Amino acid sequence: MIANNTPADRAGTLFVVATPIGNLEDLSARARSVLGAVDRILAEDTRHSGRLLQHLGISKPMISLHDHNERDRLERVLDLLGQGERLALISDAGTPLISDPGYVLVRELRARGITVVPVPGACALIAALSAAGLPTDRFVFEGFLPPKSGARKRALEQCRQQTATIVFYESPRRIAGCVADMAETFGGRREIVLARELTKTFETFYSGTLEQVAGQLAEDPNAAKGEYVVMVRGAEGNGPAGGDINVDALLTALLTELPVKKAARIVADATGLPRNDLYKRALSLKP
Ligand code: SAM
Repeated sequence: MIANNTPADRAGTLFVVATPIGNLEDLSARARSVLGAVDRILAEDTRHSGRLLQHLGISKPMISLHDHNERDRLERVLDLLGQGERLALISDAGTPLISDPGYVLVRELRARGITVVPVPGACALIAALSAAGLPTDRFVFEGFLPPKSGARKRALEQCRQQTATIVFYESPRRIAGCVADMAETFGGRREIVLARELTKTFETFYSGTLEQVAGQLAEDPNAAKGEYVVMVRGAEGNGPAGGDINVDALLTALLTELPVKKAARIVADATGLPRNDLYKRALSLKP
């Protein structure tokens, strides 16, 4: 029996195929059969994906398609699809186009009315959210943050008021700096979950407040190894409100007795809200 949406009944189609993010058993039966049936495979890194295909016992002509040659490859891919070839697009791990190449190609094919078929499977951000215990009714995926602290803090500042769960990808080299910048921007009391090495032998979840998770990372000698998904709970409300506490009322009361800096520090400690914001707010409230 031929299932729908298989290469057998789809000439001139691109299949966007998810591959595992660590555990090879996560490759779906459909992904395996599609990869085995297409005429050619477009891969981010042909050597890396060659090893996966070898493991699957699949041998196919491959074309490299990465961030730096995606536009140049378009003509060749269009030509092959025009000849009726069935192609698969894969990335090094997980779902293509999710912080991986393929957007330019898929957009162009769709604009030309060429069929693009998803073959879903592993995706680090979805796997992480499914087991983190943070709200998933609304979330935003922000991809990778800038590597340098200054630009990273500016990017985080843009997310500070976001009320949905915020998801990032991060490298192990930058994870400690990233969590420190988040604590500074979102306040140390904000809840965070880190998912490291998902689906692999040393899969680890770190969870707690930003302050607590910074401590957990500092104590774990393996923290600087492996890949991370970072998930931060959204802001509770709009503006400088610390949950049920009326921040303005608290600041105003403290300002009758204390200097601005001290009042801001006390409220920051009590609410977990960023000290800088509270300082500015206290200045504006000062009689
Ligand atoms: N396309 C992939 C997907 O579907 O998730 C993501 C590719 S992106 C270039 C690689 C990043 O995804 C890593 O730096 C890490 O943040 C995250 N990632 C990939 N595999 C992971 C894993 N096994 N555990 C945790 N994070 C992972």
